[in-house]
Amino acid sequence: MVERVIVVGAGPVGLTCAALLARAAVPVLVLEMTAARENDLRASTWHPPTLDMLDELGLAAPLVTAGLVSPTWQVRMHPSGERAVFDLAVLAGDTRHPYRLQCEQQVYCELLEARLTRLDGPCTLRRGVQVTGLAQSGTGVGVQVREADGTSAVLDAAWVIGADGARSVVRQAAGLEFQGSTYPETTILATTTFPFEQHLDGLSNVNYCWSADGTFSLLRLPRLWRVSLYADDAETVEQALQPNAIEAKLQRIVPMAGRYPVLEARPYRIHQRIVPGYRRGRVLLAGDAAHLNSPSGGMGMNGGLHDAFNLCAKLVRVWRGEDAALLDLYGRQRRPVAEEQILAQAHQNRTRMQERDPEKRRATLRELQAVAVDPARAREYLLRSSMITGLRQAEAIT
Ligand SMILES: Cc1cc2nc3c(=O)[nH]c(=O)nc-3n(C[C@H](O)[C@H](O)[C@H](O)COP(=O)(O)OP(=O)(O)OC[C@H]3O[C@@H](n4cnc5c(N)ncnc54)[C@H](O)[C@@H]3O)c2cc1C
Repeated sequence: MVERVIVVGAGPVGLTCAALLARAAVPVLVLEMTAARENDLRASTWHPPTLDMLDELGLAAPLVTAGLVSPTWQVRMHPSGERAVFDLAVLAGDTRHPYRLQCEQQVYCELLEARLTRLDGPCTLRRGVQVTGLAQSGTGVGVQVREADGTSAVLDAAWVIGADGARSVVRQAAGLEFQGSTYPETTILATTTFPFEQHLDGLSNVNYCWSADGTFSLLRLPRLWRVSLYADDAETVEQALQPNAIEAKLQRIVPMAGRYPVLEARPYRIHQRIVPGYRRGRVLLAGDAAHLNSPSGGMGMNGGLHDAFNLCAKLVRVWRGEDAALLDLYGRQRRPVAEEQILAQAHQNRTRMQERDPEKRRATLRELQAVAVDPARAREYLLRSSMITGLRQAEAIT
């Protein structure tokens, strides 16, 4: 048995696990099926405690430099502009980063990958290697792979971390069911250089909006805006993805002469799923492989990174001789947080923004405004939405 950890997947969660293990001198091999990093139009929001953790890897500062510091976020009625604005300054005593950071997950992965290749630690990243199955024995795991040239091989490891995302082969091979459901709506993410901030009064960098015909959100990044849109009632997703349909939806947000400069538009199915356990013998799951939630609130990747920090701290201790039962604590701490905080809040956020009844929307907005202007209530609310409550909940589980 080769004395190493195999991490499957070089997404944000797998790369973070690799960096944390290598830093502690644990030999690690990362297997990634894609030959090169793809432009990933997914996570853009970084929450305060994630940035606090990334300080440990020296990555918070370069990420903050590359991104957009966003002291506030808001829920907004469109086109009236009535809004509830949450100011993260109330968290100044709870975090070193009392703001959301807006930065593409790809930027983080690139920073981390560059860092990993420079690390003196024993870490190798192999791209173009697809994991196809696993076989566990009492002392290790045989990881079945298809190499870039089409040949098959089995690579040994003492432990395997499945950070291979929503369609995780590791999860399936470990026999862990992905319980939950898929939402009926598809989110369409479109990017544009149109300066919404010059046309809509008092925008934050993160804006969840109700409109007469549905909902959209406006997420600002250093060089563009990301707009999440939905198909109209009478439209299929394929129709909604057509350039003219995207254009019509953007024109409804801010009407303007000429066409919007749209860079790209992509559809995403949205799920709410979780595995019954995060460990099966010598196989551990983290990130999207273990749990999936609506992107509303920007918590999926952040939660996956919190998994990575929790898991790797324990795996390093086990590697150095502590009882492997410590790894069960990882799942006992992180799974309830995923279910009761991340999935639950993401569902609540998604349901709130999908509401069409004007009276209910108005009542929700009034309630959010009341919370936002009351420092004690705002702090409590933001501790939860910024994922600090969940981390404290996990820490309290022994
Ligand atoms: C529209 C949208 C917006 C989002 N916005 C946010 C946000 O603002 N904030 C937030 O926190 N989260 C957000 N998320 C969620 C976030 O993108 C994911 O939670 C995050 O990417 C999960 O990271 P991961 O490393 O677990 O998985 P992934 O990023 O999916 O990475 C998995 C990696 O494993 C590789 N892989 C898969 N199968 C194999 C195999 N068999 N062999 C080898 N390699 C394999 C894949 O190629 C991939 O590189 C959003 C999601 C969507 C859809």
